Amino acid sequence: MSDLTRLTAVEIAGLVAGGETSAVEVTRAHLDRIAAVDDRVHAFLHVDTEGALAAARAVDERRAAGEELGPLAGVPVAVKDVLTTKGVPTTVGSKILEGWRPPYDATIVQRLREAGTVMLGKTNMDEFAMGSSTEYSAYGPTRNPWDTDRIPGGSGGGSAAALAAYEAPLSIGSDTGGSIRQPGAVTGTVGAKPTYGGTSRYGLVAFSSSLDTPGPCARTVLDAALLHQVIGGHDPRDSTSIPAPVPDVVAAAKLGATGDLTGVRLGVVSEFTGEGAEPGVMAAFRESVDTLAKLGAEIVEVSCPHFKYALPAYYLIAPSECSSNLARFDGVRFGLRVGDDGNRSLEEVMSLTREAGFGPEVKRRIMIGTYALSSGYYDAYYGQAQKVRTLITRDFTAAFERVDALISPTTPFVAFPLGARTSDPYQMYLADLFTIPTNLYGGPGISVPCGLSDGLPVGLQVMAPTMADDRMYRVAAALESVVGTFTPPAL
Ligand code: GLN
Repeated sequence: MSDLTRLTAVEIAGLVAGGETSAVEVTRAHLDRIAAVDDRVHAFLHVDTEGALAAARAVDERRAAGEELGPLAGVPVAVKDVLTTKGVPTTVGSKILEGWRPPYDATIVQRLREAGTVMLGKTNMDEFAMGSSTEYSAYGPTRNPWDTDRIPGGSGGGSAAALAAYEAPLSIGSDTGGSIRQPGAVTGTVGAKPTYGGTSRYGLVAFSSSLDTPGPCARTVLDAALLHQVIGGHDPRDSTSIPAPVPDVVAAAKLGATGDLTGVRLGVVSEFTGEGAEPGVMAAFRESVDTLAKLGAEIVEVSCPHFKYALPAYYLIAPSECSSNLARFDGVRFGLRVGDDGNRSLEEVMSLTREAGFGPEVKRRIMIGTYALSSGYYDAYYGQAQKVRTLITRDFTAAFERVDALISPTTPFVAFPLGARTSDPYQMYLADLFTIPTNLYGGPGISVPCGLSDGLPVGLQVMAPTMADDRMYRVAAALESVVGTFTPPAL
């Protein structure tokens, strides 16, 4: 059998279903690959060798018994450490949850298990999903397989790097402001943020609850669509889950792969002029726009005048929600507890625990959020940001009256060197210039590789109306049919 780690999820599932390989063999190949390269990449915080092999054996037994297997049965998947996994460590990249083994599975994890996928382990991330480089992980950074001196994006850098390093064919991320799409862009992989509420947040450790959206990551658009189909859909355990079926993203990806976009209208946002973006990124984007036009798409310029306020609005809303969500990490209920020597008050123990357990970026966000929500400032900051959010939503609504989807570069710059942006938080925040509007609106967005700049991958973003996730898969698959998938230089 040729190298199983180079195959797509579709190919692996086909081989397993046809009995040409076993799920155990596939799993072992990926575990061996992790053992061979992850000391250089550090995509994983925890590898669940025993659990993965047991899950793989169960798939092989079901096949032997003649049971019908789902479309992703036997396919390995890596899960961002933001989702709870029963009995398997879940840290959110933070010291405050070190050693915590959740008593339950997130809905997404449960669905992955039911589908017969094989969870390899938990991937590295910026602490509490706050960051754009995975350098804010309390457990050390992940490195980009394209160049291990560069960042793999963030916060889900581990999930993206695991794909690019062929440690897993599929992974799960979460996207609050771009944490699925931006890592996808800088690692030459595909990352999709579903419609908010289209994937369950039950068991997703909360950062900013009105924005957090778990979603699929893969090396091909069709693989991402298949994973989306498995994890998506209504969940009665999540009050913001949308009670409607998942749009047919798999059919859309297959339609797109025919390379015909006749009748599809795509909007280029006129406010995204390229200011603040690298020329090489803009060049790759413009070339892709020409490609999409050649495939039959009609390209229209669309104005979204409030997008320029998205970044400042996000950096009030997200920290505000985080300051409230992270209050639960008090040293009493989960993980770390510091200074509980019998002589200290509850308040002192909480304070010592939070001081030791949270890193500088998380503390910065809690402080900004607490300030923005405090009496006397609420209207000026949080209330104002919410009004801006409404204006951005109106921009999207107006745009989608004219076009089927919007396109932009995913991120203004290619993977930057480790350490280049950690000293200035604002420089780090700029990575999500193009992705944040979609989160504030709640619609879906996907990043698909579109070219190279200085030998490093560039992503194109497709943004669609809420619950029209299928549209973005169609456009992304059409581009992929021309541009192809990306392979980094050998590690
Ligand atoms: N980079 C953004 C932030 O730091 C987005 C993170 C995310 O999507 N989880 O908040």
